[in-house]
Amino acid sequence: MADWTSSFKGIEAMLGRPEEALSQGDFATAEALMTEIRSANRARGLWLPHVPRANGGLGLGMLELVELGEVLGRSPFGHYAVNYQAPDTGNVEILLGHATQDQKKRWLEPLLRGNIRSCFALTEPDSAGSNPASLRSKAVYKQGAWYLSGRKWFISGADGATFAIVVAVTDEDSPLHARTSAFIVPTDTSGYRHLRNIRVMGDEGCGWASHGEIELEDCRIPDDAMLGRRGEGFVLLQSRLAMGRLHHCARWIGVCERAFEIMCQHASRRSLAKGELLSSRQSVQNWIAESRALIDASRLLVRQAASRLESRHERAQIDISTAKFFVAGVVQNVLDHTLQVQGAMGVSGDSVVNLFWRHERAGRIYDGPDEVHKALVARHALAAFREEGR
Ligand SMILES: Cc1cc2nc3c(=O)[nH]c(=O)nc-3n(C[C@H](O)[C@H](O)[C@H](O)COP(=O)(O)OP(=O)(O)OC[C@H]3O[C@@H](n4cnc5c(N)ncnc54)[C@H](O)[C@@H]3O)c2cc1C
Repeated sequence: MADWTSSFKGIEAMLGRPEEALSQGDFATAEALMTEIRSANRARGLWLPHVPRANGGLGLGMLELVELGEVLGRSPFGHYAVNYQAPDTGNVEILLGHATQDQKKRWLEPLLRGNIRSCFALTEPDSAGSNPASLRSKAVYKQGAWYLSGRKWFISGADGATFAIVVAVTDEDSPLHARTSAFIVPTDTSGYRHLRNIRVMGDEGCGWASHGEIELEDCRIPDDAMLGRRGEGFVLLQSRLAMGRLHHCARWIGVCERAFEIMCQHASRRSLAKGELLSSRQSVQNWIAESRALIDASRLLVRQAASRLESRHERAQIDISTAKFFVAGVVQNVLDHTLQVQGAMGVSGDSVVNLFWRHERAGRIYDGPDEVHKALVARHALAAFREEGR
């Protein structure tokens, strides 16, 4: 294990108290504890592993990041503790690549310092999120300013965000790739309204750990609030997704490893009739063996995808899609077996497994539903098959 990974390992021990508060639905306490932990980590230099050194980060490569993602993923707060949480991660990436110097100064710098948070607003209640061609929110240019209108939902971290990167239609009749543009919208702009935090699997959440619905009504923003060039909304979206998917996959392996330990620990301690341990039952042994195999296979897929992304290999996108649907399914499978082994404890707020189980189910939907990734992988596999002339 690399040195920088081991220096991050101690973070998990710090996160017990906020985790406990989160499991009990006490978001305010969790957030207050995390503010202290984040500032301590920043002072220790355990901060922004994904950001280039020139911008104050650790400048890790994709392979290093997926290794670290596993370590941090063991806690629901691991990534947040070092300012490496979604959706800020993807927004930082877009701002680094596409923002003007002024935009960087105003939005990127405070984001990197951890003084503000941001959100990314694409999905809409009235159109299919998995099909960007159906996007309805509009941005109209009038007398030197843009006016944004529409409704967005499931916007992670919208509650308390200082700005949103909003994708809206600017050129209705252009082809899909040139139809939308991205805008930096300060959340205190007149016409921008945070309507609610959507209750997700029982939790309303708050702050960073929430998913909001927002409304834009003739929301006036200046000309220089456009991010990238006109018509580049789709390109920016795609550029943030590839790495984002791998960040999630690595995090899920961390979740799996934590659950696996809980499963083995509980099975090795719980006595059944006549003092026999739960671990003596074949059904439990099967879950342990299958989980081990699935987690190891996930790690290999994720590292292969990370390596190919880093070397710009032509198969990188296919590998990322393969890893995305596979690992999102594995984490659900491993958590479900762990929860079953824990019995009633597993569904209670006293077990982190319950929290993980509810939060990670959505992984099969966001950043591309399973079916979309499987269709892409199958399309390439079939094309390769035909090319070989069989
Ligand atoms: C917890 C969570 C956090 C999120 N955070 C954000 C965020 O920060 N910002 C943001 O903009 N969005 C966010 N989203 C929204 C997410 O990106 C969308 O939910 C996703 O793109 C799917 O869109 P949809 O919900 O409209 O489902 P739809 O597109 O309506 O699809 C519904 C279902 O249809 C099936 N399906 C879809 N397409 C196909 C296909 N081509 N072939 C076969 N079956 C298909 C899938 O099973 C899919 O689940 C978040 C969602 C969740 C659950």
